Amino acid sequence: PPVELPIHEAVLGRAAEFGEAPALVDAVDGTTLTYEQLDRFHRRIAAALAEAGVRKGDVLALHSPNTIAFPTAFYAATRAGASVTTVHPLATAEEFAKQLSDCSARWIVTVSPLLDTARRAAELAGGVREIFVCDSAPGHRSLIDMLATAAPEPRVDIDPAEDVAALPYSSGTTGTPKGVMLTHRSIATNLAQLEPAVPTGPGERILAVLPFFHIYGLTALMNAPLRLGATVVVLPRFDLDTFLAAIEKHRITHLYVAPPIVLALAKHPAVAQYDLSSLKYVISAAAPLDADTAAACSRRLGVPPVGQAYGMTELSPGTHVVPLNAVNPPPGTVGKLVAGTEMRILSLDDPDQDLPVGEAGEIAIRGPQVMKGYLGRPEATAAMIDEDGWLHTGDVGRVDADGWLFVVDRVKELIKYKGFQVAPAELEALLLTHPKIADAAVIGVYNDDNNEVPHAHVVRQPSAADLSAGEVMMYVAERVAPYKRIRHVTFLDEVPRAASGKILRRQLRDLREHS
Ligand code: ATP
Ligand code: MG
Repeated sequence: PPVELPIHEAVLGRAAEFGEAPALVDAVDGTTLTYEQLDRFHRRIAAALAEAGVRKGDVLALHSPNTIAFPTAFYAATRAGASVTTVHPLATAEEFAKQLSDCSARWIVTVSPLLDTARRAAELAGGVREIFVCDSAPGHRSLIDMLATAAPEPRVDIDPAEDVAALPYSSGTTGTPKGVMLTHRSIATNLAQLEPAVPTGPGERILAVLPFFHIYGLTALMNAPLRLGATVVVLPRFDLDTFLAAIEKHRITHLYVAPPIVLALAKHPAVAQYDLSSLKYVISAAAPLDADTAAACSRRLGVPPVGQAYGMTELSPGTHVVPLNAVNPPPGTVGKLVAGTEMRILSLDDPDQDLPVGEAGEIAIRGPQVMKGYLGRPEATAAMIDEDGWLHTGDVGRVDADGWLFVVDRVKELIKYKGFQVAPAELEALLLTHPKIADAAVIGVYNDDNNEVPHAHVVRQPSAADLSAGEVMMYVAERVAPYKRIRHVTFLDEVPRAASGKILRRQLRDLREHS
């Protein structure tokens, strides 16, 4: 059944019970916030925000890297009745301003190192009434000072089914990022739906390495562990050594990551220099993860098979997950459908036709986690959610007889060659099995005869400067049907990726156009 609670209550409902247990720990300096503090602080700050003028329905932009203050600010804002739009901490002032205007944000919460960008964005966008800071900065009210407020806790009437708690922007992988309206109910219900598969609790330590501003970090690294009394160890940004050192130092038990980190864990030499024996589970989501890399990672770390989850911002975000206690899940699966949710696999040629078990088609989802809609984009909403409430994901998948889902790729990314369809993700997975290849990304490009053919972008292993384009093409040609062969190879230093780990194929296309 749907969870009819405001998100701050759904998450912090048991905070009093967890009391002095650490809720959040700064991975670098060790600063700790207990559950009792998190609960008390967010209530005080909600009161101060209400006193400052924050009203129900106002949009508040939360602009911060991962810090231990981030969740406090988030729950304070929702308790004051605001809808929180999370902002990429590396956004330029122009990008930030676009988001502020798109959602008519009235308030910003930022951190002092990002203050100049926030000020400039507010100026460009107009309509922002005040900028608060989590830490401190001259001329701005600070969340720390707000703890001393004498204001009474606001009495805000929240309707969990209608009111928007979070307004994250989709990653912008396929176009302009869109504001996704997620209600209190859709987020709280999705937490409850995912919980049986990935139970955590007091004593477990989760490393918040993915950004809280993206729906994956917001759910898996913030809401879910805090709801269950686990400890969230916060890392402000990813670099491999700090990340590995943090796992060792804080005896991390659960890692929720994206495929590039699984790849590093599987292949990078630095991994051998750290004691990672505290790890019990590694879970990957947000982009395709190939079965070989997953297996290599779990072998190397001595953990059960790396589990996957599947979702999207528009789904609050999860619909599928491999339960941590699953016995022999098939390699490559992204999991089973969560409770209270329906799925269809629709023919790519005829979207009214359901496909039988084993056949790949577009994944469509109906359930309480489906977004309310895109903010201010009724046509985009209608293009995605049909009249019967089915959300058409734009992803291609197939289900086996036991209900395990496999994601093939995005419909838009499929390379169409003489009536055949080639999934870039399949070729990327194959390329990664080559010992001299550190990373790979494939796009479709048009040949002279107007057929789309695969073009590989390859990052060589540090010790493999001799790897040639011919060798790459040969390796793939020996292992796939002729229509899937790689026809072009470009060597890169790095594959461009979004914060959530997704390959930015648009940038690869631009590269090609400008070369
Ligand atoms: P935009 O919609 O703005 O183009 P985006 O789709 O990348 O950006 P997100 O909501 O962050 O924005 O990502 C959702 C997408 O991520 C899914 O539609 C799917 O393509 C991909 N994805 C998520 N989990 C997995 C997974 N386990 N395996 C493969 N792909 C996944
Ligand atoms: Mg999308």
